[in-house]
Amino acid sequence: MISRYSDQTKKIKEEEIEEAAREIKNGNLVLFPTETVYGIGANALDAEAVKKIFIAKGRAQDNPLIVHISNIQMLEDIVANIGVLEHKLIEKFWPGPLTVIFQRKSKEVIPNVVTANLDTVGIRMPSNLIAKELIEKSGVPIAAPSANVSGKPSGTKVEDIISELDGKVAYILDGGLTDIGLESTVIKVENNKIDILRPGKITKEQLEQVVEEVEIDKHVLEKVEQNEVVSSPGMKYRHYAPNTKCMMIYSKVEEEMIDKINEVTNQMKQENKKVLVIGKQERLDSYIADEKWNMGKTLEEVAKNIFTLLRKVDKEQVDLVILEGVGEKGLGLAITNRLIRACAYNYIVV
Ligand code: AMP
Ligand code: MG
Repeated sequence: MISRYSDQTKKIKEEEIEEAAREIKNGNLVLFPTETVYGIGANALDAEAVKKIFIAKGRAQDNPLIVHISNIQMLEDIVANIGVLEHKLIEKFWPGPLTVIFQRKSKEVIPNVVTANLDTVGIRMPSNLIAKELIEKSGVPIAAPSANVSGKPSGTKVEDIISELDGKVAYILDGGLTDIGLESTVIKVENNKIDILRPGKITKEQLEQVVEEVEIDKHVLEKVEQNEVVSSPGMKYRHYAPNTKCMMIYSKVEEEMIDKINEVTNQMKQENKKVLVIGKQERLDSYIADEKWNMGKTLEEVAKNIFTLLRKVDKEQVDLVILEGVGEKGLGLAITNRLIRACAYNYIVV
């Protein structure tokens, strides 16, 4: 096994991508950046190679992987058909952070281990140039989930994930901090309407510019109860969660959010418990907590920072982490979806 970093400037050389592509062709795993988060990739056409991903991540076998492609020919080879709406979406959002669920052509092309035995397959064409070149040079579609041990926050920079994944992959392409910081928007098109199964950088509002009816699956914001049927297996699993107890607090009215966060902090202080508040920069001075971390100024910054912040939480000796909510407009929906999972659905909206 070789793990190698690129040089300090994080500029990846042509030869490095070629070497990584050789590992993919040889049935091994490669850690690579995309514009969303890092992925652990394997040749999507090789069942034995894909099984290694599930082992490296400790991922549940019934949680399907997204297949990454670099050209439309690859899509045509994999899927049974491409509908009119799908065509429109591809034209507008690919390459980019949108995963579309298609009917799979056959299990002889995309093996069952990739789709977790479903007849559908999630496909995405990344815009990140390293990802694009890696797929192109490998000459095969690459199945890749987020680079993290299952349950942990996704990896947005190599430094955050190296300790949990080193030795499990044959090659590491280090492209620095990923642009977006949250995983792709996952959608399914049915009867001329779009269902958002996982929100991401491509927002409901953007999708509405292409298709009139866009619905958010109820499990994007609601907990899956036992034995409930889900549209996407990933919804069932614990995600992004630090070991330290977390709580999200949100109000549309700023003062109410500040008051509630300080009220909860005060209760904790009376029990001699330590609180860390992670909130927007401009509000940090209003909080009475001992520890305060800046989550960013804009929603874009919050998206980029949040997984790294969640990964650091367990290093602090605090009893409760309070996360400011960001609302559900635009990119806020994707951030909220990650925050409430990080809190194991422990949240207050006032
Ligand atoms: P990750 O690879 O960790 O970014 O997670 C991929 C997400 O896409 C998971 O929540 C999967 O359940 C979901 N997904 C992948 N393929 C399908 C599919 N064919 N149908 C529904 N959801 C899917
Ligand atoms: Mg993941």
